[in-house]
Amino acid sequence: MAILQFMQSGRDRVAVPTTVHCDHLVQARVGADSDLQDALNESNEVYQFLESSSRRYGMGFWRPGSGIIHQVVLEKYAFPGSLIIGTDSHTVNGGGLGSLAIGVGGADAADVMAGLPWEVRYPRIIGVKLTGSMSGWTAPKDVIIKLAYELTVSGGTNAIIEYFGPGTASISATGKGTICNMGAELGATGDVFPYDERMATYLRATGRGDLVAIAEEYVHLLQSDPEVEQQPEQFYDQIVEIDLSTLEPHVTGPHSPDRARPISELAAEVQREGFPERVSVALVGSCTNSSYEDMERCADVARQAAARGVSAASGLLVTPGSEQVRATIERDGQQAALEAIGATVLANACGPCIGQWNRPEARGTENSIVTSYNRNFPSRNDGNAGTMNFIASPELAVAMGLGGSLAFNPLTDPLVDANGNEFMLQPPTAAPEVPPTGFDPGVDMYVEPPEDGSDVDVRVDPSSNRLQVLDPWAPWDGNDFEDVPILVKTEGKTTTDSISPAGPWLRFRGHLNNLSDNMFLGANNAYTDETGTGKNQLSGEEIMPIPEIARAYSAQGIRWVAIGDENYGEGSSREHAALSPRMLGAAAIITRSFARIHESNLKKQGLLPLTFEDPSDWDRILEDDRMSLVGLSDLTPGQPVQAVLKHADGSEETLNLRHTLNDPQIAWFRAGSAMNHMKNLEGA
Ligand code: SF4
Repeated sequence: MAILQFMQSGRDRVAVPTTVHCDHLVQARVGADSDLQDALNESNEVYQFLESSSRRYGMGFWRPGSGIIHQVVLEKYAFPGSLIIGTDSHTVNGGGLGSLAIGVGGADAADVMAGLPWEVRYPRIIGVKLTGSMSGWTAPKDVIIKLAYELTVSGGTNAIIEYFGPGTASISATGKGTICNMGAELGATGDVFPYDERMATYLRATGRGDLVAIAEEYVHLLQSDPEVEQQPEQFYDQIVEIDLSTLEPHVTGPHSPDRARPISELAAEVQREGFPERVSVALVGSCTNSSYEDMERCADVARQAAARGVSAASGLLVTPGSEQVRATIERDGQQAALEAIGATVLANACGPCIGQWNRPEARGTENSIVTSYNRNFPSRNDGNAGTMNFIASPELAVAMGLGGSLAFNPLTDPLVDANGNEFMLQPPTAAPEVPPTGFDPGVDMYVEPPEDGSDVDVRVDPSSNRLQVLDPWAPWDGNDFEDVPILVKTEGKTTTDSISPAGPWLRFRGHLNNLSDNMFLGANNAYTDETGTGKNQLSGEEIMPIPEIARAYSAQGIRWVAIGDENYGEGSSREHAALSPRMLGAAAIITRSFARIHESNLKKQGLLPLTFEDPSDWDRILEDDRMSLVGLSDLTPGQPVQAVLKHADGSEETLNLRHTLNDPQIAWFRAGSAMNHMKNLEGA
């Protein structure tokens, strides 16, 4: 959708360096090769579109199987001091190499690709002071699990987390990446480590030694100033301190990444809470934890078990984060060590981390899994709400897979070898953070765009039901919106997922028209007290799905408004929650209050996000009212908009509505969208 929106800009080439990565659509079924081939068959038209549009508009294209976006970005693009935006919340992973890397919605990305500035609310700064150094079973994952426990899943909202203190340099660049990756689980805008020698090591190993000299020249800009280290309380809005030397390995979950405890407390909790004790599958890797160092520590544990004739008691799945990691661990033996205890290596893609785990045998069952991933909401991995996902470091996940039990603690509990003798796993040895003989790049799956892509044909089949080229929205016609019907009045929590539900609809996220049949299907309509239904006010037809009503209005050229409650549009930054209302004829969305990103997305699509000056006016809007928004030609920053309500009994009343549009954003409304406005400026 980011590319489809960018295409509306009319630009010949992206304005900033841009790459496209194919990682989310690969289902994990059998193993790497056949799973990848299935994905190529099933989603071929999507991949064809992504590849051709990348070549057409000057974007680097990473084919399916080349790796997961955040690992590839760490290997190729992130560097100290860079600002990166990515259309995925775990873009923050790049903080491990000193980038300020931030996850955004597709509309934001499309704007930046088209040359518009990117706006973000000025963040708070949380300082996390790391002291000491890790040893034994403790890993970088434990730092972020501990922090999630301390700050909770909302503790990082509108904040940048900045790590500082002497402990930072004791962690490899990829370990720092793991920590930053899960800043997304705290809701952080971004997170970042100061530049150090560990970053230099990784830059050199990934063929970017030239950046080291530049980073060293500007090191004063890439590390905290000395006074920040000395008096952090004067500079940070909040400080958390973690002593790495005393940090225990942690396990977090199920169902929330902040439900954490040290491994030593898990067995008792398993009994108390009745979690399924048997570990059905252990899963390691993903964008979060598949570095060379991680894989070597996993392999070390696996070799100890294999030497005693022990295989994993649970299933064991390995997801390499990139083709480079996969090829290197194949060459250096880590893959063989894991396979020797029963592991299956999956494609270099998201797979079980994003619900693309085809696992019919678990459907409807309660079972426990241990992963080295980052998210563990119900159904996240295999679509089964009964699967309880516990998150831990990859080496701990492998150990728990060997023990086969959630109650197994490798620090204190023995395994039994092939001869019936007990033995203790030893903590994995210090692993090299980069391969001693260098990375093996594996199969080259990168497509460099041509200098001039103007003759490249962007492939979108007009009869496709998964892809649809977007036409620019029509500009505002200069008239007030007169006597428009109320489509829906949402009551209570209305997230972007209520406005544009995901699940089976995800398949259509490149086809706005098909996807828009989901509009408001998750929203509670105050008039019907039902979810997703309303009444067609023109035909008088009884209860029907809200998108059908909107389509009926739209077919007659009638605009409409939707009324919302508090914090309307919270949740994911999903731009479809603004695009679908725009496509199906919304004029304005009027609420008690908006979530910030969604309000901004509405503005970008040329819609009017308005709020009641008096929040109790929400009650005055009746199902069969008609509303006029008047004086729009005088729309001015800071000045209210008037809404004239005509009730069915013939009475009228006028309400004051507020807006936060600034002058450029009013120009977006007039042009029909931010993208149209930019095009107008370029054409002027
Ligand atoms: Fe997102 Fe998981 Fe893929 Fe990482 S591996 S990008 S967290 S879905």
